[in-house]
Amino acid sequence: MPFIVKDCVRCGVKNIQMIVVGQISHEPNEWEVSAACTDCKQLSIWLWRSRSGAEPMKIGGNLEKTDYPADVRGPVRIATVAVDLSEHIPARIADLFREANECRQMTWYEAAGAIYRKTVDVATKHIYATDQRLADKKPADALRVRIKSLGEMKILEADIVELADVAALDGNDAAHDVDPYTAEEAEALEDITMDLLDRLFVRPARFAAVKAKQIASGQRKPD
Ligand SMILES: [Zn+2]
Repeated sequence: MPFIVKDCVRCGVKNIQMIVVGQISHEPNEWEVSAACTDCKQLSIWLWRSRSGAEPMKIGGNLEKTDYPADVRGPVRIATVAVDLSEHIPARIADLFREANECRQMTWYEAAGAIYRKTVDVATKHIYATDQRLADKKPADALRVRIKSLGEMKILEADIVELADVAALDGNDAAHDVDPYTAEEAEALEDITMDLLDRLFVRPARFAAVKAKQIASGQRKPD
């Protein structure tokens, strides 16, 4: 069975064996091969240039170490799936989240970490600009202080304040630390950011909708 050994563009594992499961030729001696990572079982597409005219699927073993000279070139970078977000998250903030999510899927964890932090930064500033309870309040410049203030004013619950505080730190680490940022760290930061957006924008919108229905049906008096 033909295979290649590459860094997986789906899960980020380095030097992993990927089983070649399909091929298509679009130029003489040029192929695109699809390969399944033996770690995450996801497919990626790789450009393969044969110097002998041999077809990749007809070759056994490591495609880069056969008797048929060929080059496996870079991956075709289409390895992301669009994330589904609530319509209640403001467009600018949703766009930032999507960008960070795409980076994480592409295994660019440093960029993902930095943009998740920016998502939290812009989302908390947006709340200050739009929430009536904060009408006369000015947001702190520092993100960690701003998150803490939102907790003190009961805009955010204590548990998410604690998690978001770590997120503010972690995103900062991704931008400044010398250690590589891991897949797990980027995923954890994504979960916290999603939870924060849910509490800031999605839950209040759902609550308001239910309240409006109760008022319309006469179960509840208007405020
Ligand atoms: Zn993989």
